[in-house]
Amino acid sequence: MAGTLYIVATPLGNLEDMTFRGVRILKDADLIAAEDTRHSKKLLNHYDITTPSVACHEHNEAAKAHDLIQRLEKGTTIALISDAGTPLISDPGYRLVSMASEKGIPIVPVPGCNAAITGLSASGLPTDAFIFLGFAPKKQGRLDNFLNNAAHHKATLIFYESPRRVIRLISSAITAFGDRQACLARELTKQYEEFIRGPLSSILSALESRETVKGECVLFIKGQDDQPVDLSTEQMESLIMDGLDQNMRTGELAKKIAGLANWPKSKVYDMILTLKTRS
Ligand code: SAM
Repeated sequence: MAGTLYIVATPLGNLEDMTFRGVRILKDADLIAAEDTRHSKKLLNHYDITTPSVACHEHNEAAKAHDLIQRLEKGTTIALISDAGTPLISDPGYRLVSMASEKGIPIVPVPGCNAAITGLSASGLPTDAFIFLGFAPKKQGRLDNFLNNAAHHKATLIFYESPRRVIRLISSAITAFGDRQACLARELTKQYEEFIRGPLSSILSALESRETVKGECVLFIKGQDDQPVDLSTEQMESLIMDGLDQNMRTGELAKKIAGLANWPKSKVYDMILTLKTRS
């Protein structure tokens, strides 16, 4: 009889967030397939789990999955874990689980932490519908397309992002979506857990005022409102004149106002040039 493949969620940082069931399954399994065996040692030692482990990460998963499937077919019970949270959610494991599914091997999820759901519950944004977008593309052009394609969704948008790129993500989101309500959750369940809530522009200012942004981040952005409130042309012109008085550069000003006003950046840019020639 085939063994069972357990998909076991692990803590996001706070080791107390491991479930009793997760600990029991990890103790009873014949083998733990871990994203990073050294990283998982801390968790396994904390709970006196002595089950042998093998590495199954994004670089070896294609090859490793065949080996693990063969072991499962021979009756081995395997528990899959990742470095943090739920395996397969922006983490390795998809190949293994899809192969196990094709082979009819029993697959049992053991639920627990997930950064998207944990942060969403405290974000203050609508939770009735949400879209998990994972990590956004790194290249600016692709990022802009990705965000533009997401702009019409009414559900709360969820992004994973590295602290090094989060400022760029937020500023690109302002250009694509306007200055929507949002929440940045940082270091969930850890000592320096933080939620920054408010319009995207205020989160951006808060981060830009820091020397560096550290820690793991999830960004939540409110979906598109049914009736977006656009600024009138007169209000736009007044905002532009204020920016010009402050000697803001045209591109910078166009980006800021397009974000605030739900107008396309190119349209605002043209408006600034016209006002510049007039003044
Ligand atoms: N499988 C994980 C889950 O279930 O949430 C996600 C793994 S993914 C490789 C790592 C990303 O998840 C981080 O870059 C960050 O966006 C988010 N993340 C993980 N732990 C977090 C934490 N403690 N606080 C905030 N975000 C976290």
